[in-house]
Amino acid sequence: MQEYDLGIIGAGPGGYSAALHAAKKGLKVVLFEKDEIGGVCLNKGCIPTKSILHISELYKQIQKSQDFGISAENITLDYTQVLERKNKIIERLRKGIELALKNAKIQIVKAEVKIINSNEISANNETYKVSKIICATGSTPKIVSGLEFDHEFLLSSDDILNLETLPKNILIIGSGAIGIEWARIFSNFGVETTIIELAQNLLPIADIEVSKRIERIFKTNKIKYYTNTSVEKIINKSVTLSNGEILTPEKILVAIGRTPTQKTDIENIKYIGDVTGQIQLAHFAIKEAIAETEDIDFQKELTPSVIYGTPEIAWVGKREQDLEPNTYKKSLLLISALGKAQCDGKTDGFIKILTQNDNIVGAHIVSPEASALIQQIIIAMQNNISVEKLKEICFAHPTYSEGIFESLFNLK
Ligand SMILES: Cc1cc2nc3c(=O)[nH]c(=O)nc-3n(C[C@H](O)[C@H](O)[C@H](O)COP(=O)(O)OP(=O)(O)OC[C@H]3O[C@@H](n4cnc5c(N)ncnc54)[C@H](O)[C@@H]3O)c2cc1C
Repeated sequence: MQEYDLGIIGAGPGGYSAALHAAKKGLKVVLFEKDEIGGVCLNKGCIPTKSILHISELYKQIQKSQDFGISAENITLDYTQVLERKNKIIERLRKGIELALKNAKIQIVKAEVKIINSNEISANNETYKVSKIICATGSTPKIVSGLEFDHEFLLSSDDILNLETLPKNILIIGSGAIGIEWARIFSNFGVETTIIELAQNLLPIADIEVSKRIERIFKTNKIKYYTNTSVEKIINKSVTLSNGEILTPEKILVAIGRTPTQKTDIENIKYIGDVTGQIQLAHFAIKEAIAETEDIDFQKELTPSVIYGTPEIAWVGKREQDLEPNTYKKSLLLISALGKAQCDGKTDGFIKILTQNDNIVGAHIVSPEASALIQQIIIAMQNNISVEKLKEICFAHPTYSEGIFESLFNLK
């Protein structure tokens, strides 16, 4: 029987981060993975989508190059190359993780495992004895009755990555992060895109003003959307909506959330990342892994949410609709007021800051670089840096981060 200090199940961002940090602490680690190293994030999630999104944005930008005095003719798209580039990026990053795991002398076992008890794991007909188990087995696309994936017409976020050609039109069910990003990708590529959402607004998990802005941006980009709407039935590729309308899309992407993988009843197992059913984001999994292996604090309520594309959307902390009226101050700065936004020709969006007792309690950003801007806010929030103290900082000009600085003086 092979013996280890730590057995980790799942080599996604949670699992491989836990393995690397534990090994750095001198632990003897075995890491089990039934599929590809890198998990959903690298193979089916964050990285492939952002690589395809990047090209779609570039494609759209080139088509608008005349706005900048550049003429480009005969712009064509080779989607096969888009997919090849995506696969190369995944492979390159995977090799990097595999090398880091090898250099850290982490034993990798490619197998689907079963936990026997809190100190024994069975894989490939062998038993591994471990002092501790971290389970980072992630999540899978949610399946609901009537919208079961057939992998041809009704597609999951995994299937959509395997489409070899772009459809003429697509229906996306669900306007969470995955639905919004794919709507942007398809629309950028010129695919007629429709998105339906059961809640009252698109991106219902966001601050209400963010949701409304996204709706406006979708209208401008001719992405058709329905809110307060669900699918009543699908017969022969004909989709009847709850409002009575009938759509006949070429493909449907079902993006209505993800189900955590099954946990065992066995005690003394540490679960991290998507499997916990808390925040299903790669950086959440990574931070949980580091908190567990390095004993570094993690304020989970300050986990940033980011949705990519133009403009980026990012937020942290409380939403305005969750605050009691008259208990907070707010500033909303349109990014069109910023020199940098005008220079870049990217003027759609805002920076919204909410404060209570001179401290930021929430920030909601729709802007280029929102993913980076939100980190500035998190540093201030986590360290209780007051608005007055933040005003002492010198922000560079012209930048989008100046918008944060300006906002500090406009809280009402
Ligand atoms: C389309 C899409 C886009 C996304 N974009 C982003 C983004 O931009 N930013 C972001 O932060 N997050 C994003 N996410 C979410 C992100 O991918 C997940 O939050 C993240 O991968 C969770 O990491 P994890 O380590 O918990 O689990 P996972 O990455 O799911 O890894 C779990 C691993 O465990 C393995 N496993 C499961 N059971 C067993 C078993 N019994 N034995 C052996 N191995 C097992 C699986 O094969 C898998 O490799 C996206 C997700 C999707 C689907």
